[in-house]
Amino acid sequence: MLHGTAVSEGIGLGRVMLLEECSLVYREERTNGAQAERERFRQAAEAYRRKTQAQMEHLKRSAGEEDAWILEAHMAMSGDPSLLRRVGERIDQGKSAEAALQEVCGGYIEVFSASSDELTRRRAEDVRELCRAIQRELLGVEEADVRHAPKGTVLVARELSAAVMAGIDNENIAGIVTEGGGMTSHSSILARAMGVPAVCGVKGAVSRLADGAFVIVDGTRGDVIFTPKPEEIEAYQKRQDAFLEKRRRIQYFLHKKTQAKSGEEFKLLCNISMPSGAARALEAGGEGVGLFRTEYLFMNRQHPPCEEEQYQAYAQTLRDLKGRPLTIRTLDVGGDKEAACLELAQEANPFLGLRGIRWCLKNREVFLTQLRALLRAGVLGDLRVMLPMVSTLEELREARALLDQARSQLKAQGLPCVGNLPVGIMIETPAAVLTAAALAREADFFSIGTNDLVGYVMACDRGSPQVSGLYSPMQPAVLHALREVIRLGRERNIPVSLCGEAAADPRLTPLLISFGLSGFSVAAASVLAVRAAVARWTKGAADQVAEAALAMGTEAEVQAYLRQVAVEA
Ligand code: PEP
Ligand code: MG
Repeated sequence: MLHGTAVSEGIGLGRVMLLEECSLVYREERTNGAQAERERFRQAAEAYRRKTQAQMEHLKRSAGEEDAWILEAHMAMSGDPSLLRRVGERIDQGKSAEAALQEVCGGYIEVFSASSDELTRRRAEDVRELCRAIQRELLGVEEADVRHAPKGTVLVARELSAAVMAGIDNENIAGIVTEGGGMTSHSSILARAMGVPAVCGVKGAVSRLADGAFVIVDGTRGDVIFTPKPEEIEAYQKRQDAFLEKRRRIQYFLHKKTQAKSGEEFKLLCNISMPSGAARALEAGGEGVGLFRTEYLFMNRQHPPCEEEQYQAYAQTLRDLKGRPLTIRTLDVGGDKEAACLELAQEANPFLGLRGIRWCLKNREVFLTQLRALLRAGVLGDLRVMLPMVSTLEELREARALLDQARSQLKAQGLPCVGNLPVGIMIETPAAVLTAAALAREADFFSIGTNDLVGYVMACDRGSPQVSGLYSPMQPAVLHALREVIRLGRERNIPVSLCGEAAADPRLTPLLISFGLSGFSVAAASVLAVRAAVARWTKGAADQVAEAALAMGTEAEVQAYLRQVAVEA
């Protein structure tokens, strides 16, 4: 048996299709004149964009609009003027187009891969894919074509590019195994969106798994079983049936309320990063959007989106939500979130630096532009504004003052805007937890961002394998912080929801019910599982679990206990 990281749930049984990456062989020096070589490069880049456009259409159908942005980002990068200029310069110096591109991309890859934050490291993956794709065009080498893979195929590769993933027919692909990648690599994001079981980070997969061999992919536990015995096949088939049955059963919750067994109701909203995510949220059973990460509107482009472009994006999202609530988080850059068009300063400790609201308060023109777009969109529906990374009351007050200023600017221009826009804050810093009582007096709602809060409470970098054991929402310190902040918010009668990944973890559901959370905001794919998890608990039973868990001294005890109660519930 081989083992890796479970990145897309489910069990797949099938035959291996080995996708070996062919090495691309090319001359270092050009044989054409510089002008002809530049033209060769231009044509290859254009052919790449044409192909990618078609792949993107396919990907929108198989993985959904929201996830097709991965290829969109590659296309945008292929037209980046500074990349094109540098390639051109190297061609002029005598390099072949392939070598010029390799050199330029290699520089970017080196810088991005050395970064300590995951999002930047992921950019290295983007550049690598783009570089190989254009080189393939230059050399006339076709990408592996998985479109006609027979039913019951398990794809095995070192890495799978977004372009290969775009060719997948999820009816035929039973599973995916890769040697590289992680939870957030493209193949993993797309496998989850397509509902294909996947395991990544499987050392030795390509050499150990032969083409045509029968294998089992356990995307829930992260196992890959080769040459399985008949009794193993039978056991996994049973687990596969149970998984599919569970997936089918939770469909029951599609049009139901989000309600505990004892009757308490909760809001169950979705996290999105593009306007196109709104329709998907409703299709998946979401009751609106609890977190629109607007920083994605600023990524992979040369200039920040203007007020009108932002207004159109927010208006479209509201229209698609058909009257359901929309919480838009203002620009959250810095830390692990890059946006080249904003030219963020380099800092020694970016996670402790100019992030989220701190950056916006120092870059008022960008912030005011966004606030004006929000105020204009506010007349069209149920819109709320949420500020990221708040750590002091002054930040909330300053942001409100800027919102007033933006309103006056619009009025002076005679543009219609909403009179009152609810303003809430993300609870992501220990400072916000400790001053929650004061913040709750002036904020209209709280939304807890556990992805960041866990890191800051535990003072650990989740990207570092040395301390990743500390990064858990089940750490006693985190549980106490959650209980306290929910209590303080509720005491002031403001809604408190949770929009970090922990919101979708069924082990935490009884605790969140007991603490008095008002709503969950999760990825569209998790909506039904969360609604089903909430329905399993009465408030009384959840209180007992919360009391027992909070009395425990270690994360290991809490985790073992919550796993047990989740299975029994
Ligand atoms: C969080 O920190 O939990 C959160 C939802 O924000 P993001 O993941 O965008 O940092
Ligand atoms: Mg965050």
